[in-house]
Amino acid sequence: MSGSKKALLFDIDGTLIITDGAGTISWSFAFKELYQLDVDIEKYSDTGMTDPEVGRRSFTAVIGRPPTTEEFSKLLERRMHYLVQTVNESTGYHVLPGVQTLLPSLIEHGFILGLVTGNLEAAAHVKLHRSNLNQYFSFGGYGSDSPERSVLTKIAMARGETVYGEKISPDAFLAIGDTPNDIIAAHQAGIQCVGVASHKYTASDLKDANADFVLNSLEEALPVW
Ligand SMILES: [Mg+2]
Repeated sequence: MSGSKKALLFDIDGTLIITDGAGTISWSFAFKELYQLDVDIEKYSDTGMTDPEVGRRSFTAVIGRPPTTEEFSKLLERRMHYLVQTVNESTGYHVLPGVQTLLPSLIEHGFILGLVTGNLEAAAHVKLHRSNLNQYFSFGGYGSDSPERSVLTKIAMARGETVYGEKISPDAFLAIGDTPNDIIAAHQAGIQCVGVASHKYTASDLKDANADFVLNSLEEALPVW
């Protein structure tokens, strides 16, 4: 390891992997089973929203009122149940270019790796399991920790310190994400962010969002060496 960065916080969807709609379809299956309704959660949510927010907004929009605690618990359970199936059955599921070689190489060079994602914690691990990527990440901040991405980023940072038993300066953290929201949240949490134009946003979108560094894919060198 060289340079000032030590702890890298990776977004999942669009940064490490593409599940090609597995998350969206799992919500649809859950609504269909529980309410016999055809629900496309993409109508009620934006990229970068956390899972609980997506579920609550979609429920409220289609049922006409917010879910009770009991209803929401059942919805989340059915959604997680179907997510295992939709991730495994997704024909478009793939690991993004560069990721399979980058992650072991970062570990080999002494970096510590965490996750920052709007997924519920269990959903994050289900999505990463299919490609055996869970092994690289020893901590994270998840959509089940806060509706605010900047807050869950700070939670990930604190967990990194807990796992490694040492103080880690914000300067030593670097977030890696594919959306303007990832960049904004990293800056609000006081850390730098690499924007990777590997999914829906272009390099110029990510530059406009004030990414500290922009890469076209994770095949290009991260600014940590
Ligand atoms: Mg993403």
